[in-house]
Amino acid sequence: MAKHTILTADRPTGKLHIGHYIGSLKNRVKLQNTGDYRTFIMIADMQALTDNARNPEKIRRSLIEVALDYLAVGIDPKKSTIFVQSQIPALNELTMYYLDLVTLARLKRNPTVKAEIQQKNFGGSVPAGFLAYPVSQAADITAFKADTVPVGDDQEPMLEQAREIVRTFNTTYQREVLVEPEGLFPPKGQGRLPGLDGNAKMSKSLNNAIYLSDSADEVHQKIMKMYTDPQHVHVEDPGRIEGNTVFEYLDVFGTDQDQIADLKAHYQAGGLGDVKVKRYLEEVLNEVLDPIRQRRQVYEQDLGEVYRILQEGSQTANEVAEQTLSEVRAAIGVNYF
Ligand code: ATP
Ligand code: MG
Repeated sequence: MAKHTILTADRPTGKLHIGHYIGSLKNRVKLQNTGDYRTFIMIADMQALTDNARNPEKIRRSLIEVALDYLAVGIDPKKSTIFVQSQIPALNELTMYYLDLVTLARLKRNPTVKAEIQQKNFGGSVPAGFLAYPVSQAADITAFKADTVPVGDDQEPMLEQAREIVRTFNTTYQREVLVEPEGLFPPKGQGRLPGLDGNAKMSKSLNNAIYLSDSADEVHQKIMKMYTDPQHVHVEDPGRIEGNTVFEYLDVFGTDQDQIADLKAHYQAGGLGDVKVKRYLEEVLNEVLDPIRQRRQVYEQDLGEVYRILQEGSQTANEVAEQTLSEVRAAIGVNYF
C-alpha cells in the first residue's frame, strides 16, 4: 500500500510547455516511479471553463493534447490514474459545501487569482466561477484525500486555501474527514519558468511558450526570437546575465555546468553574440524534447487508446471521490435516507 496520495492537475487550455515540464511534470514522473505514492492526475476541464466558458471547443481540443503530453513525458497509466474533472460529479457537490465555508473577501485576496484577473483583462466582468476556482481546486484535492500536491510556485495560495477549508470543515462538523495537503515545489529558482518574451511566467494562455510538442524547427524559430539583454547590441558589448531569459533557461535545463559558467563569463566580458548562446540552448532543449516527441508520436497514432485511458482513469477516480463524498455528507448530516 502506498504511503501517500498525490493529486495534481493541468488546465486543458492548450498544449503543455517546458514550464510545466520543469515546474511539475518531471517531478510527477519521478514520484510515480518511487512506488511511495498513489497518484491521481486530473485534466481540469471545468476549471479551464471558468475563463473559457464561451470557447468550449478550445477546451475539448486541448483535453486530448494534454493527455498526449502526459503520456509523452512518461506518465504511465498503469502507475498513475489519469482522469477528467467533469466526469467526476462528486467534485461539484463538494465544491458547493466548501463554498459556504469561505468568504468572498478571502477569495478576492488570493494573490495568484488577483494576478490572473489582471492578466486576463476581465475588466469588471470576472466570472464568479473563476473567482471561486481555488475552492473547486480544494474539492479536487480533498476528494482523493491527497496529502501531496506537486505543483509550480504559483499554486502556493491555492494550497493555503485548501488547508483552510480542510481545517474549517473538520472543526465545524467535528469529524476528521478531510486531509490537509502539502505542496511539493520544484527546487529553488525552478518554480516558475519565465516566458519567451521575458514575462514572469511562461503560460499557455499568454502565447510565450515552447511546447513539449514543438518540432525542432519551431523551437529554433522561437529561440531565435527570444528576449535577451536589450543593451547587448554589438557582439563586443558586455552583456547581462540577470533577467536574460536565454541564460535562465540554460540554468534550468542545462546539464554541463562548466560550459554554462564559461558562456556566462564570456558573455559578461563581451565578445559573445546572442546567436551563439541561443544555438547552445537549442541543443540543450532538443536533448530534453527528443524522447518526449518520440513517445508522443506513438500515442498520436492511436487516439482511441488515449480516450480509453482517460475513461478508465475516470472510473477509478469516481469510486474514490464518491467514498469521500459519502463521508462528507454524513459529517454535515445531509444523509437523510
Ligand atoms: P493557463 O494560462 O491556462 O492558466 P498555465 O500555463 O498556467 O495555463 P496550468 O494548467 O494553470 O498552466 O498549470 C499547471 C501546472 O503547471 C501548475 O502546477 C503550475 O504551477 C505549473 N506551471 C504553469 N506554468 C508554469 C511555469 N511557467 N513554470 C513552472 N511551472 C508552471
Ligand atoms: Mg494557470
